[in-house]
Amino acid sequence: MKEKNSAEQLQQGGSFFRLMMIYLIVCSIGFTVMMICVNKLMKEHDKTLTTQICDLVAEKMNNSISYMTSSAENMAAMLTAQELKDFDNVYGQTRFLKGEAYISMGFVDMQKRIYASDSELEEFEKWDLLEISKQADPVSISPPYRSGLTGQPVFTLFANITYGGNKKGKLFMTYPLKEIQNIAYTETLADETEIWLMNAESDNLIQCAGKDKYAVGSWANAGLTFEKNINESDRDDYLDWKQKMSDGEDGAALVYKSGQTGYTQVFADIPSMHGWKLVVRIPSSAMSSAMMKFRTIVIVFTTLLLLATFIMFVMSHKRDEADKEILENLSIHDPLTEVMNRRAFDMAAQTQLAHIGRDDGVMIFIDIDYFKTVNDKYGHDAGDKVLKEFAALLKDVFGENSLIARYGGDEFLVFQKGADRAEAEEKMVELNRRAHDIRPANCPEDDHYHVSCSCGGAVCPENSRDFEELKSLADSALYDVKERGRDGHGWYAKGSGK
Ligand code: GH3
Ligand code: MG
Repeated sequence: MKEKNSAEQLQQGGSFFRLMMIYLIVCSIGFTVMMICVNKLMKEHDKTLTTQICDLVAEKMNNSISYMTSSAENMAAMLTAQELKDFDNVYGQTRFLKGEAYISMGFVDMQKRIYASDSELEEFEKWDLLEISKQADPVSISPPYRSGLTGQPVFTLFANITYGGNKKGKLFMTYPLKEIQNIAYTETLADETEIWLMNAESDNLIQCAGKDKYAVGSWANAGLTFEKNINESDRDDYLDWKQKMSDGEDGAALVYKSGQTGYTQVFADIPSMHGWKLVVRIPSSAMSSAMMKFRTIVIVFTTLLLLATFIMFVMSHKRDEADKEILENLSIHDPLTEVMNRRAFDMAAQTQLAHIGRDDGVMIFIDIDYFKTVNDKYGHDAGDKVLKEFAALLKDVFGENSLIARYGGDEFLVFQKGADRAEAEEKMVELNRRAHDIRPANCPEDDHYHVSCSCGGAVCPENSRDFEELKSLADSALYDVKERGRDGHGWYAKGSGK
């Protein structure tokens, strides 16, 4: 029976752990799916916000370039209206017009003669500005270049000057790039946003805005600023993004990590500056702080929930085990005397008899004499106590090797495995003797009542090998002892009986 129980326990333990594993797997899958969703949501949110900021900045830049273009056109129109034919004269007059916004102004006539200072002429030479002047229709804009005059990034605008419908020359104006940088400045995430102008072909990068105010206006290299610092796993995404820029696409978003910092980087088109794009980069921590907090909360709560449920599982498993033990005890033992109950004894004794060899075992029926008197004289509780003490005495006398059961009210059954008649007799005598020592509670000192018992034995295999028969033979032996006056023991002998 024990073997069966431990097999059952093993099976139940197995199913508990299977259940635990399934539970943990389901939770882990749920948690992973949730984290993937949150991360995706964060990525999409960052992309949308960065794209919006980049578009806004690009729009402002494009507007400011348009504004500069139209002011160059207006200037050209004004010169046209004055019908100034002599460029030397015009150049002489306009030298005084040099405003704060632009750093150079001059003319190119139809003979490609440049009306400019020596240093400006050097710039024309170095950056091939004459070529760009030819493209003015009615205006053209140079790419950004580093000014030999100020060291800053600048660009030059050309506008046609026409008299009577005939092209007479070009007006040129050179602006520092910071003029459009300033206009491009946006309040949105101002401290965190970095803005560049980037040329995908040359990898040239001009910083327009960023945390490091001294870096603003400086030239850099996209390879060194971005590609070199991007984590290996995101590098291909960066190269794709850069390819889109080279292909002349209007814009694209990229999410990557540089060390532990996540960034979202978007480019937008600046149509008037061929090959140059506006690039805006914002760290994810600046944009998704609410989402990151949410993610942290999800991680902490899910972990706590998992932990709590795990502890609950283990506790409930332990409680089940304890309950099972109590139930098992109850199903095997008599709750009052803690010896076996009838059902358990029958099963155990039958199993033992099935495996028993020759002349091995004695079945003994034992009944307390006049037990009703104990209840009547000293009370039911005193009776219970006598039953308990008597059962303890049985265990002591017959030892652990014997099966002992409370078979009915004050009736006990013992199967002394491996014992012969002589050994069993010795035990019965001892039991009769020691039973006298049990005194009921509430029994006054001068009351000479003492507990006694009667025992009847039957021997296996001499009398029978059959459990039911042995029991009944032992019972009839007990009956004989009772008949003979109690407080003693006897054996089943053929011919005797109730
Ligand atoms: P006998 O010598 O012929 O056995 O006399 P007896 O008084 O012992 O008679 P019997 O064995 O028939 O009586 C058993 C009594 O045991 C009857 C019942 O009141 C009492 N009894 C049965 N179960 C319990 C119990 O759990 N607690 C107590 N206190 N008494 C019980
Ligand atoms: Mg009795």
